[in-house]
Amino acid sequence: MIEIDGSAGEGGGQVLRSAVALSMVRGVPIRVRNIRVNRPRPGLRRQHLTAVQAAAAISGGRLDGAALGSTELELEPGPVAGGDYRFAVGTAGSTTLVLQTVLPALLTAPSPSSLVLEGGTHNPMAPPFPFLARTFLPLIERMGPRVTATLERPGFHPAGGGRIRLEIEPCERLRGFELHERGKVRARRVTALLAHLPRHIGERELRLVQKKSGWPSSGFSLEEIDSDGPGNLLTIELESEALTETFTGFGRPRLRAEVVAQRTFQQARRYLKAGVPVGEHLADQLLLPLALAGGGAFTTLPLSRHATTQIDLLGRFLDVPIVVDQVAPPRTVVRIGRHAKSLTSS
Ligand code: AMP
Repeated sequence: MIEIDGSAGEGGGQVLRSAVALSMVRGVPIRVRNIRVNRPRPGLRRQHLTAVQAAAAISGGRLDGAALGSTELELEPGPVAGGDYRFAVGTAGSTTLVLQTVLPALLTAPSPSSLVLEGGTHNPMAPPFPFLARTFLPLIERMGPRVTATLERPGFHPAGGGRIRLEIEPCERLRGFELHERGKVRARRVTALLAHLPRHIGERELRLVQKKSGWPSSGFSLEEIDSDGPGNLLTIELESEALTETFTGFGRPRLRAEVVAQRTFQQARRYLKAGVPVGEHLADQLLLPLALAGGGAFTTLPLSRHATTQIDLLGRFLDVPIVVDQVAPPRTVVRIGRHAKSLTSS
């Protein structure tokens, strides 16, 4: 049994989700204490509860202590089984974070899976669907599995009501990769997504990014969609030779559209200026799959607290060294497994 202190490091839901993901893949029981104890609403929220219940269902495991608000739980996973699964968060809680919990195990399961997740699909503080589909999953596919994601219905906070479907074709063993150069930026797509909100919100967001960036207007678009409640997401997608990175900003009441646009553009500009391929959020999300693959390396921005917490947690489950090197700030190189070993032995 591996004991995890959920309040360590960043101390949020990621510690729990990653511990559960690793427990499923390695088949080791875990006890997680102090789950989100320093957060305003401590313990398990709907999204976390759905994630651990999904993990128990997919691994035929025994789950103790999982209830709303609970700050401690145990999971004793069984063998992971591919299959047809459906999990509903029941609120606008993030479906993509539920996916983050169960996907690693399904990538190397003995058979394919079809997964339907209901709840929020475009949530702040979580990977929004466009990031999942265009940035994260294509890199997962580079590791061997095939994963297609379909947005069946968007769900925004607070109404929820969204649905995503994933078809997962696993492989026996994940293959790591190295990603140090971005190459030329081939396309820049800026999209203002609106559900049940006035068009001028999206128009103002696009106008500001266009003015600040000077990018060709052909890459800018406004998309109106139906959803259970209102929502606004501004997406800046930068497609370069090596990968597509996605930067997002959410509109909310009493936050000016220009501020949403300015903040989103700042993230993209920082990334472009640094010349690195991997952005901040992608960095923390690549660590676990690359560690499971036994090795990989990438160049990114200075690591977030999520990323450093993830590195510490990985060390509790896997005998895979991870070396972080700030070569020429802000360029930061992360080497995992055999890529870290070759470095220390050379
Ligand atoms: P936590 O705060 O512990 O629940 O973890 C949040 C997770 O969502 C981390 O893996 C973040 O990298 C990810 N995340 C948060 N915001 C974004 C974003 N805008 N784009 C992509 N991923 C994100």
